[in-house]
Amino acid sequence: APKLDIQKIRKDFPILEQKVNGKPLIYFDNAATTQKPKQVIDAISEYYEGYNANIHRGLHSLAEKATTAFEDSRKVFQNFINAAEVEEVIFTKGTTDGINLIANAYGRKFLQEGDEILITAMEHHSNIVPWQMIAEEKGAVLKVVPVNAKGEISLDDVENIITDKTKIVSVVYASNSLGTVNPVKEIAKLAHAKNAVMVVDGAQASSHCVVDVQELDCDFYATSGHKMYGPTGCGILYGKRAILEEMTPYQGGGEMINNVSFEKTTYNDIPYKFEAGTPNIADVVALKHAAEYIDSIGKANIMAHEQALTQHAHDRLSEVPGINFYGTADNKVSVVSFTIDNVHPYDAGMMLDAKGIAVRTGHHCTQPLMDHFGIEGTIRASFSVYNTIEEIDFFADSLKDIVAKFS
Ligand code: PMP
Repeated sequence: APKLDIQKIRKDFPILEQKVNGKPLIYFDNAATTQKPKQVIDAISEYYEGYNANIHRGLHSLAEKATTAFEDSRKVFQNFINAAEVEEVIFTKGTTDGINLIANAYGRKFLQEGDEILITAMEHHSNIVPWQMIAEEKGAVLKVVPVNAKGEISLDDVENIITDKTKIVSVVYASNSLGTVNPVKEIAKLAHAKNAVMVVDGAQASSHCVVDVQELDCDFYATSGHKMYGPTGCGILYGKRAILEEMTPYQGGGEMINNVSFEKTTYNDIPYKFEAGTPNIADVVALKHAAEYIDSIGKANIMAHEQALTQHAHDRLSEVPGINFYGTADNKVSVVSFTIDNVHPYDAGMMLDAKGIAVRTGHHCTQPLMDHFGIEGTIRASFSVYNTIEEIDFFADSLKDIVAKFS
């Protein structure tokens, strides 16, 4: 892969220029949300300054321009995840919203008492709680594939736990707490062998992994715009056409209908039947620019840079006395999760912040995973395209200073 000009890329992200607590900002909380390039920020103001209008219904020029931009974004995302058809791309508020849609529009219709939903022990709360809720409502059972000491799941375990009663398998593509990349394609095969649908939580994957929903052969793929350089409050849910068509929408309102009368309402076609109400037009339009931004740099180039950062972080952080890493060292996205003996993650986080370094500390919305490791939380550094080797060096040196203060 060609070497990326990171200093040039950094200029696209105005937020990175600032100082925090008198120190240059080092933003290592990308798994929580990435920063946004000018291209995305500008697209939002261009929409509001130039062609803000409600979409789909209006005949006037602004409405048409807004509709075209919105639907253009759908096409860009069809390509971005390689969906077979543009109608298979539903705009949502994000991953959480997408998974709740599946649980309510698929689960409520197709789950029966005693059916099983299979997830893993490394799921984000948003890929646990919606399933618990629908399982409780329908009398279904939630089953959990364990993780090993390295924070990985095994296909053998999946095969042993999946049964003829399993109707839904939902697995995170890349773990936000550990970075682990799961074999979702192989798990999809096991799910399909039992006639279960395969849901992929792609919140972390979209900016760090090659995403090809046809190659993965997943039935659903949910992701968030804000973790791939796009705005907050928008995301996409991919679903296979045949399955989406069989599902019953769970939110009613404008846009999702064909014809409404007090006697009987008929629903719109996919994807619109799942897009009730005025959507987040500005952010969906801007999200297209995030996908185009990734493509303009090249995902493979981004991945190579992030892998180099992650490797360097492992090497340098290994020098920190008392450090314990969580999660596999290879086959993972750019997340490094660790604890330090006798240093509470919260204290480390505060002291790093004083040096301008933003990391996440705590359970990262994966409490069951933290329980598995017998810890309350970790310190998590997660890297993106605009991070540098020098930032990681400063981070490692800062941690050494912090440890020295505590001993
Ligand atoms: N799944 C994973 C793996 C995540 O990292 C996140 C966000 N932290 C989510 C789901 C939820 O995404 P959102 O909050 O954008 O809906």
